[in-house]
Amino acid sequence: STQLSLMLGRLEINEPKPPPKKHPFTMEDILSAVENREFINYYQPKVSLSDGEVKGVEALVRWRHPEHGIIFPDQFIHLVEHYGYINELTRLVLENALDDARLWRGAGDPFTVAINISMLSLASLGFMDSLYPLIYSKGMSPGDFVFEITESRVLDDRRQPLEILTRLKLKGFELAIDDFGTAYSNLSKLSDYPFGELKIDRSFIHGITDSRSKATFYHACLALAREYGMTVVAEGVETREDWAFLKSTGCDVAQGYFISRPIPADDIAAWLSGWKA
Ligand code: C2E
Ligand code: CA
Ligand code: CA
Ligand code: CA
Repeated sequence: STQLSLMLGRLEINEPKPPPKKHPFTMEDILSAVENREFINYYQPKVSLSDGEVKGVEALVRWRHPEHGIIFPDQFIHLVEHYGYINELTRLVLENALDDARLWRGAGDPFTVAINISMLSLASLGFMDSLYPLIYSKGMSPGDFVFEITESRVLDDRRQPLEILTRLKLKGFELAIDDFGTAYSNLSKLSDYPFGELKIDRSFIHGITDSRSKATFYHACLALAREYGMTVVAEGVETREDWAFLKSTGCDVAQGYFISRPIPADDIAAWLSGWKA
């Protein structure tokens, strides 16, 4: 315990500052950030395990705060939802993606852009419908996009999300069920939903070669996805071992730090020209 207090003493000397507080953002902070368009997209590639082809990039929003710098979504998405501005944020993310796509269009084979959609945006028909004109006005079409919807609430909600998702699929958007495995969903309902992509949550992927339970879950996901004709995406692929295991077991697509961290739009073209599986 002397050693412990010595260590603690040293730590205090090395880290005189208290841990950073979670920013207590107010409704006014969030509103002004939305009005001033203080959000930018980072992008993380999704690549095919069999041949290394880039299937798409996922847009991951960051708040470029005038005082605090880059703020990650875990610190503000729930507040944006809480204060009722999530549709505005989703629209900004889509607008940014439509602009940013100019930076990589023509830099090889075309690929999709995945956008994270809050369940709150699937509560009424109007909002998602309002996105088509935006997309067409920039010379893109629904087939250029994947909408990722987190598993936790979608399958257990009532009819409205199912109806909206079905419409989106019919319009040509691809739909992904995100963070798969983190909720206790009624999996038998999965077949009612028009998801084309199943994204296994990264908690089941990282370290999969050392965990029998992760591997078991993963194989169950593969079987389920094959049954329903879905593409399987493994998130959180951090190591060569994870990658090799997924590749040898027939997973379709991988995403994670092993391939690339999320990067600014300006860096995508350079990443593409350097990428080799
Ligand atoms: P998500 O959709 O599951 O996105 C993946 C998260 O995992 C991202 O965190 C990404 O940076 C991180 N990640 C990717 N590869 C790895 C890896 O190999 N290892 C580890 N440890 N992490 C990895 P990020 O960007 O902080 O986003 C967090 C969450 O915020 C997202 O989780 C998503 O649910 C939400 N989010 C992000 N952008 C948006 C958005 O535009 N709209 C909405 N509604 N939610 C968003
Ligand atoms: Ca996602
Ligand atoms: Ca995810
Ligand atoms: Ca997540």
